[in-house]
Amino acid sequence: MNTITDVIEPGLLQRFTEIVGGANALRPEEAGERYLSEPRDLFHGRTALVLRPGSVEEVARIVALAAESRTPIVPQGGNTGLVGGQQPRSTREILVNLSRLDKIREIDRAGRTMTVDAGAVLQTIHEAAEAEGMFFPLSLGSKGSCQIGGNLSSNAGGTGALAYGTARDLCLGIEAVLPDGSMLNGLRRLKKDNRGYDLRHLLIGAEGTLGIITGAVLKLFPAPAGREVAYAGLRSAEDMLALLAIAERHAGMHLTAFEFLPRIGMEMTLKHTDGVRDPMADPHDWYVLLEVTSHRSVEEASETMEAVLTKAFEAGIVEDAAIAQSRRQADDFWRMREEMSWAQKPEGGSIKHDVSVPVASIPQFLAEAGEAVLSAVPGARPVPFGHLGDGNIHYNVSQPIGADKPEFLARYDEVNDLVHAVVRRFDGSFSAEHGIGVLKADELARTKAGPEYEAMRAIKRALDPYEIMNPGKVIKI
Ligand SMILES: Cc1cc2nc3c(=O)[nH]c(=O)nc-3n(C[C@H](O)[C@H](O)[C@H](O)COP(=O)(O)OP(=O)(O)OC[C@H]3O[C@@H](n4cnc5c(N)ncnc54)[C@H](O)[C@@H]3O)c2cc1C
Repeated sequence: MNTITDVIEPGLLQRFTEIVGGANALRPEEAGERYLSEPRDLFHGRTALVLRPGSVEEVARIVALAAESRTPIVPQGGNTGLVGGQQPRSTREILVNLSRLDKIREIDRAGRTMTVDAGAVLQTIHEAAEAEGMFFPLSLGSKGSCQIGGNLSSNAGGTGALAYGTARDLCLGIEAVLPDGSMLNGLRRLKKDNRGYDLRHLLIGAEGTLGIITGAVLKLFPAPAGREVAYAGLRSAEDMLALLAIAERHAGMHLTAFEFLPRIGMEMTLKHTDGVRDPMADPHDWYVLLEVTSHRSVEEASETMEAVLTKAFEAGIVEDAAIAQSRRQADDFWRMREEMSWAQKPEGGSIKHDVSVPVASIPQFLAEAGEAVLSAVPGARPVPFGHLGDGNIHYNVSQPIGADKPEFLARYDEVNDLVHAVVRRFDGSFSAEHGIGVLKADELARTKAGPEYEAMRAIKRALDPYEIMNPGKVIKI
């Protein structure tokens, strides 16, 4: 039976419900999987109520009431986050889902900006930019469901970060409701604005712990005239690094993606994904997906890709390569990379990591992490892949063939500790782009202790003294 401390009394629930109207206030039993499960099945949400506000004003009223009544609230966007930050954890918490705030508010062609609601889906933003002959470079495998508010709150990285930076680099202005219900009206389009502390950068990457983002001004770029996508097959991680150096030298700013995949990941994707094909005739130990773009012409993109691959062949780095011959084939090449996360699911348990190390250390990191994992769990199958150009590796480990899934997953923390110890040896990060959420909050407290963590706590206490905004996520106060 619930005690007085773990439920919200009915009168208060009614007041929250009235803000959004009955049709947009869901009881937990009505909310179901869509709101209360998450992609990795690691967390199962518990909540008193799911609210779906339809305007910024409704968000502000919800937060003001939460502040007044000291009710914890959890912001949720597309619910694709991989660290549990968007999941409420008790029947004392209210989930605030932003999906109904999904408008593209304005496109400024001359200034190349787009002003959007926080609940706008990333794919919709891409399409709106494209319709105006421009492009928004943030791109993730989850782009069909994730929302810009979630992207900014998690400072998402993705495949465009190599050339254009992370979500933080792509945002000029933020509108948000702060934990006391007041509005931060920062929808500015200025590239230069040094009027004191930039609160935009506090809210970006805060994972909903410092306020609810309701709108943003995004930077747009001219759409490239030409795009070339290719796969290269290589024999070692050292060769992938050498290829990166050649690509950077010959393509410069035209190199817009440099992703890597291991053969085992390629095989899992081929086995478990409909409609994908091996891009090359023979298998290779490692694959790199390169993308080169040109704002000048199709020919320039094509010549640049040719130059990169020719140099790499001449240097004996690349075993084989395939250049996409059409837009459709280019999309298929990308699909192969993007499906890799899902293709590990049918292979049983998978212990995940989202780490970064200095780019030059990647080969040694892969060797040492592999050694550490296999000596603890013989037969485990590392599937490291990701954003090589950013030093960001999704060091996933699939269970040994035929192993018991719960038994393997029971070793999640142990395997994480082993891999993260290797990351520390290279002065890397145990959270490159997915954030901290609840999954990594203990590790952050343990490893960032000292003045940096204390400064983070002081900021949290100053803005959210009653800890109503996504409590227990990221930072422990
Ligand atoms: C197949 C797949 C591929 C992925 N690839 C990448 C990748 O390449 N790079 C990468 O960085 N991530 C990746 N992710 C993770 C995830 O998609 C990103 O973290 C994404 O930015 C989350 O957006 P969302 O709208 O789903 O946010 P949610 O999952 O709903 O929320 C994420 C966090 O942000 C907070 N939040 C959400 N909306 C708001 C708001 N409006 N105001 C304040 N706080 C808010 C939540 O409380 C939570 O802490 C991937 C996920 C999947 C499933």
